[in-house]
Amino acid sequence: MKELSVDVAVIGGGTAGLGAYRAAKRSTPSVVMIEGGPFGTTCARVGCMPSKLLIAAAEAVHQIERAPGFGIHPQGETLINGREVMDRVKRERDRFVGFVLEGVDEIPAQDKILGYARFIDNNTLQIDDHTRIQAKRIVIATGSRPSWPAVWNNLGERLLINDDVFSWDDLPKSIAVFGPGVIGLEIGQALHRLGVKVTMFGVGGGVGPLTDSVVKEYANKTLNEEFYLDPDAKVEIMQPEGNHVFIRYLDKQGNPQDILVDYVLAATGRRPNVDNLSLENTSLELDARGVPVADRLTMQTSVSSIFIAGDASNQLPLLHEASDQARIAGENAGTFPEINPGLRRSSLSVVFSDPQIAMVGSTYRALNQRFSACGCFEVGEVSFENQGRSRVMLRNKGILRVYAEQGTGLFLGAEMMGPDVEHIAHLLAWAHQQKMTIDQMLDMPFYHPVIEEGLRTALRDVQSKLKLGHEEAERCQRCPGE
Ligand SMILES: Cc1cc2nc3c(=O)[nH]c(=O)nc-3n(C[C@H](O)[C@H](O)[C@H](O)COP(=O)(O)OP(=O)(O)OC[C@H]3O[C@@H](n4cnc5c(N)ncnc54)[C@H](O)[C@@H]3O)c2cc1C
Repeated sequence: MKELSVDVAVIGGGTAGLGAYRAAKRSTPSVVMIEGGPFGTTCARVGCMPSKLLIAAAEAVHQIERAPGFGIHPQGETLINGREVMDRVKRERDRFVGFVLEGVDEIPAQDKILGYARFIDNNTLQIDDHTRIQAKRIVIATGSRPSWPAVWNNLGERLLINDDVFSWDDLPKSIAVFGPGVIGLEIGQALHRLGVKVTMFGVGGGVGPLTDSVVKEYANKTLNEEFYLDPDAKVEIMQPEGNHVFIRYLDKQGNPQDILVDYVLAATGRRPNVDNLSLENTSLELDARGVPVADRLTMQTSVSSIFIAGDASNQLPLLHEASDQARIAGENAGTFPEINPGLRRSSLSVVFSDPQIAMVGSTYRALNQRFSACGCFEVGEVSFENQGRSRVMLRNKGILRVYAEQGTGLFLGAEMMGPDVEHIAHLLAWAHQQKMTIDQMLDMPFYHPVIEEGLRTALRDVQSKLKLGHEEAERCQRCPGE
């Protein structure tokens, strides 16, 4: 057994692990990074990048389908060559992974330990059966993995997760997607547009990450115009049948429907990879899901020398959040016992469906809980259906709802579905982080004709409903929340 003694050990070599390793290295040369699986990061290998590549192919098909609306009629049938589609997805994906691997190659060999780590105690890690590491400080950056109901395992190779989709050589004919969350919506809609027969089921009525029922309903209706989506489905039977999966579900009218699909895609959520770390050997305080509780500004856990970052922290499973948390956790692990709060940005998330879905700042649900007793927030709304530029481009679908605080007029958050709202979401996230009021946002320039003029309409709408002033602001300050 090899024995090592280091200042900092980082568990995981994904986005958060690499970031934490580099940040810790700025304070001490004695840092190792432990990786059990393949290097290359979830984002580049099976996450953000291949999913966007698949979506880009789907958008190409959709543009051809929209062309007749402009009086342009592509001749003949559109041929979607699944092999070529998947070839480009994988080729470009490999390019992105290659850049990550180049970075990993630059890390000195002695700093990279290959194998799965588990805790022996608060300062000792065992790597497979070959290495034991004494570490003064540890950063957990082990990411997350897909989770699904265990009974689905009887589907065998017909049950897929997102990783499998990105290793296809060709497109299947049909698929049932379970889970209309971010991953299910992105992959499901893309496959539908690429000619795969998609049926999508959820439980509990959720659509993407949306919490505002007005936007959620709009998204549900809009996506249903393209493919069958029941966010609160009743599936009665799901079993393998030859090279297919037989599914019996009750449709929205309550009638039983039988379908045979090539595959079932489980997009039913992801769980932090902390259950295989033998955390019971530590004195870490865990939350209800078994995840170490951590301060979001320092990423320090209840054991002062252990930090956590990325999807493993179960805070916000997004790439830019993983990078931010990694920098904070790595810097603090490097400089411990001196630790400092790091920058946590305003929350921003985007679903690359079409129309896109985005959320900024506080969610509608959180605001409702906080202010429901005193009516201290107002909603401004715009529909993109008659919005000038959106109509020009024949992309006039969507709704944007902005939230603002009574009394101060502070911009609190927004939820939306609309054309390329990734851009509006960025503007709004910047305004949110700058703690701008609705008045200040309306003082900013808006070009003509642009989709952002829709945002201005929503801001004006909420402005007209706000009661500003000291008295109201103080009343709302006292609003108890839940
Ligand atoms: C399909 C999909 C699409 C996505 N799209 C987006 C997007 O558009 N935008 C966005 O912001 N985010 C997106 N995400 C989320 C984003 O990919 C993650 O938030 C991010 O990759 C998390 O990085 P991480 O370092 O925490 O995890 P990872 O990159 O998964 O790294 C964790 C590493 O730890 C290793 N490991 C685990 N356990 C151990 C152990 N015990 N010992 C040693 N090593 C271990 C793993 O092998 C892995 O390499 C997407 C995710 C998916 C799945």
